[in-house]
Amino acid sequence: MRIPCPHCGERPVDEFTTIGTADPVRPEASSDMKDWVDYVYIRNNPAGTHREWFHHVGGCRAWLVVTRDTRTHAILGARTAEEARKP
Ligand SMILES: [Zn+2]
Repeated sequence: MRIPCPHCGERPVDEFTTIGTADPVRPEASSDMKDWVDYVYIRNNPAGTHREWFHHVGGCRAWLVVTRDTRTHAILGARTAEEARKP
């Protein structure tokens, strides 16, 4: 699998680490405990397009949001964390 880093170009996945899904939204500090438990522990296991955090530790050290098809492992795109936050 190769990931198109916006800074370094297409690089092998061995240069990256991942922490999983990029979809959960951090609750407000004053939110209920259930919201925090869901944020920390509950994850979907989608079959299809999925956004995930990748850290380019073997390259530019940027955090990326990579869109991947979990059925085929095809990489559909990668954006920096800053770009991914934009609507
Ligand atoms: Zn990079």
